[in-house]
Amino acid sequence: MADTQSQALKRRGLMFVLSSPSGAGKTTISRMLLDADDSIKLSVSCTTRSPRPGEIDGVHYHFVSDADFDRMVEEDDFYEWAHVFGHRYGTPKGHIREALKQGQDFLFDIDWQGTQQLYQKDRQDVVSVFILPPSLPELRRRLEARAQDSADVIESRMDRARGEISHWAEYEYVVINDDVEACFRKVQEILHAERMERTRQTGLIPFVRELMGS
Ligand code: 5GP
Repeated sequence: MADTQSQALKRRGLMFVLSSPSGAGKTTISRMLLDADDSIKLSVSCTTRSPRPGEIDGVHYHFVSDADFDRMVEEDDFYEWAHVFGHRYGTPKGHIREALKQGQDFLFDIDWQGTQQLYQKDRQDVVSVFILPPSLPELRRRLEARAQDSADVIESRMDRARGEISHWAEYEYVVINDDVEACFRKVQEILHAERMERTRQTGLIPFVRELMGS
């Protein structure tokens, strides 16, 4: 059946922000969302940190030097940028602004500092979701299960997690990740509902005019 709403109606794209402490499942949820929905693309950030095994330049991040990052800041090439855990991360403006106007949605995997900056620039089109772990012992268990890090590193990740969680109330939506499938479905429902928000659907006025024959 034709989907008039998604095919024919013009709307502005969404800046869909997902934040969480490391280990709460944000990367998995992001991947599931991108796989399930062709209408949303990942906003690929720039970072000065080195790639981890398996990370691809231009796909997971644009890996840039400190000098490149400095130049981009000077030339006002970022929507937002922040220091996170000793490195710099930023959202390049690139083609995002134009694509948003055309109705393309973007997923932003950024921290609370970046989220605040996006809100300052563009309150209307930002939708923010914070993912919480069910408990701190469970978060620790998940970090330990990755078996990638030493006890010291896990301790410092737990400290950072508490810091990140302290910003939960700055988000519009908060989802507790007890179960990754259920959490994914909730995040997807938020995205679907926000796409239907009246003021975002710029095509509604001509549609209703035609519907009413005026
Ligand atoms: P990681 O190094 O583990 O990929 O990311 C570390 C943190 O940086 C995560 O909380 C992630 O959301 C955040 N981050 C990634 N890209 C950006 C960005 O462009 N801007 C901001 N403000 N934070 C980012």
